[in-house]
Amino acid sequence: MTDLALVNANVLTMDPARPRASAVAVTGGRIEALDAGASRAARVVDLRGATVLPGFHDAHNHMVGFGMSLSEVDISSPPIGSLDELYAAIARRAEATAPGDWVIGSGYDQNKLGAHPDRDALDRAAPGRRVWLRHTSGHMCVVNTPVLAALGVDAAAIEVPGGRVATADGRPTGLLEERAQLLVGSLVYPYPLAELANAIALASAQYLKEGITSCTEAGIGGGWVAHSPAELAAYAAARDSGRLGVRVELMTAGEVLHPLGAHPGDNLVAGLDLGIRTGFGDDWLRLGPVKIFADGSLVGRTAALHGAYDGSDGSGYLQADAAGLQAAIIAAHRSGWQVATHAIGDRAIDVVLDAYARALAEYPRRDPRHRIEHFAVVQPRQVARAAELGVIAVPQGRFATELGDGMLAAVGPARHGWLYRQRSLLEAGMVLPGSSDRPVVTGAPLLGIADMVNRRTASGAPFNPGEALTAEQALRAYTWGSAYASRQEHAKGSIAPGLLADLVVLSEDPAAVSPERIAGLTVLATIVGGQPRYDSGALDGLS
Ligand SMILES: [Zn+2]
Repeated sequence: MTDLALVNANVLTMDPARPRASAVAVTGGRIEALDAGASRAARVVDLRGATVLPGFHDAHNHMVGFGMSLSEVDISSPPIGSLDELYAAIARRAEATAPGDWVIGSGYDQNKLGAHPDRDALDRAAPGRRVWLRHTSGHMCVVNTPVLAALGVDAAAIEVPGGRVATADGRPTGLLEERAQLLVGSLVYPYPLAELANAIALASAQYLKEGITSCTEAGIGGGWVAHSPAELAAYAAARDSGRLGVRVELMTAGEVLHPLGAHPGDNLVAGLDLGIRTGFGDDWLRLGPVKIFADGSLVGRTAALHGAYDGSDGSGYLQADAAGLQAAIIAAHRSGWQVATHAIGDRAIDVVLDAYARALAEYPRRDPRHRIEHFAVVQPRQVARAAELGVIAVPQGRFATELGDGMLAAVGPARHGWLYRQRSLLEAGMVLPGSSDRPVVTGAPLLGIADMVNRRTASGAPFNPGEALTAEQALRAYTWGSAYASRQEHAKGSIAPGLLADLVVLSEDPAAVSPERIAGLTVLATIVGGQPRYDSGALDGLS
C-alpha cells in the first residue's frame, strides 16, 4: 500500500537521470516511485498542474537566533527609516520594560541609517534600561551606558583580540565589533534551554510555511554566535516535544573543540567528548561541520581585504592571527571534521585556502568537502584555487537586495565583479548550495532564488549581474547543492525512489515564469518525511 500519491503534477526532480515526472508516490516516509503507484495509494491528491520540487534546504542559517529575534524589537530597514525612528522604537519597548531589564533589538544597518546608533541617545530613549542592538550582519552591536558600566568599559575601552570596543575621542561609543560582542554575552548567556527550544519551534513553523524541509545551523555551543554551551540539547528538546518540523544539521562552533586524550596514532587532536564529530546523528538532527570564523562583515567593513575599503584607509582584520586560524583548521581536518570557515574578504579567503591546501597535503582525506561561508570578495585566481581544492563556497543570494548597496559602496567599482560570485563557481566545476544566513536577511527561499536570478540591490542597481544564475541553477542550488554540502545527496535534495519524501509544492514553476515573478509564487504545501507539515489549504485532500 502506498501512503500518498501526488498526481497531475509538474515534478522537477533535480535528478539529471530523470529530470521530470507528473506524479510522485510516497510510502514509509520515502519516495516510492515516479509516475506510478497512484492506483494503490491510500491518499491521492490532484495537484492540478502545481509544481513539486525537493524541499528547500537552507545551507547556512541561524535558526535559534532567528527564533529569538521574533520577540526582539525589529530595527531593520524597512521598517526603520532613520536613527530617530530607531530611538522611538526603543523608547516604546523601554516603556513596557522594567528598569534594569533588557531592551533588545536586532537588524539595524548603519548604511541605511547614516550612522550606528549612539549610547547617549539610547540612554535618553530607554532611561535605566539595558539596551543591546544587534547589527544586521551579526558581527557587531551597540549597547548603552548601563551595559558598558556593567562591563567596566563605560569610561575607557579595553583591547579585545579579534574585536574592537569603538571609541570617539577616547570614550566608548557603545559599538562593539566582532569578538568584543562576547563582553555582552558574558551578561546574558547562557539562555535557558526551554527559551531556546521555543525559539527553534517558532522558527521551524515559519520555515515550513516557506517550503524549507532542511536547514543548516551555522554555529552552536561557543563563541559569539552561541546562546548556550548546551545548545544541541535545545534542538533535542524541540524535537522530543514534536516542535521540530524541519531537519537540522548543526555546525559546532570551533571554540568548543578540545583535545580528547585519544591514542596518539588516532590523529584525533581536536574534537567533542566521546569523539563525536561531523556526521553523528540521524535524518532529523545531525552534527555537521565545525564552524570557524576567519573574518567579519563586508557591510560592517570589518572583513579582511587585500586592498582598502573604498574611500577609507581600513582594510578590515582577521578574527585571529593567520597562523592560529590555520592551525585550528588543520587540527579539525586532521581529526575528521568537515570544516566550514567564514571568510568574506579576499585576504581572509587566501588564509583559508592556504589552510585547506596544507591540511589536504599533510593529512590526505578523501572528499572532505570543506566549505567557505559567504566567499564574498573573490579574485579570479581564488575561484580556480577553491575549485582545485574541492572547496564548497556558500554565498547568500538574498544579500543582493538587502545588503547589496552597502557592499557595492564598501568595495568600490573596481571590485564589483568579485562580489558574491555564483555563475563563475559553477563554471569552475564547484557545487553551489543555496542559503540565506537568516536572520541577517529575510530567509524565504523563493526570495533567495529570485535574487540569485535577478541580482539587483534595493535601490535598483545591478549587483555584479555577470554572476546571475538561471532559475534552474538556483533551484538546484537550494535543493541538491545544499544536500551535497551536508554530505546528504544520497538521502535528499532530489526526487528519486528511496530518497526521503521531503517535498515542496509551489503554485507555479519558478523556471517557467518571468524572473520578476519568482519571489511572488505561493508555497501550497510542505511535506517532510511523507507527512504534510504545512498545508495552505489550497490542495484538496492533502491533510
Ligand atoms: Zn551566518
